[in-house]
Amino acid sequence: MKVAIIEERCVGHGMCLLACPELFELSDEDGHAFLRSENVPPALQEAVLQAQRGCPEQAIVTSA
Ligand code: SF4
Repeated sequence: MKVAIIEERCVGHGMCLLACPELFELSDEDGHAFLRSENVPPALQEAVLQAQRGCPEQAIVTSA
């Protein structure tokens, strides 16, 4: 599975970071989320889907 953040939508709540701190980080510069990797290992898939469901801006997209 792959994951991406639609930067224009992200406003930096940081909910994604709580759901999956292994892949999501918040930028010190602009407060927006960024990814350590777009490739989601199987063990983190559920956490990433949780982050996607929990993003209030629907800024997280996943693909197979
Ligand atoms: S939860 Fe969504 S809007 Fe908030 S920081 Fe994460 S990607 Fe951005």
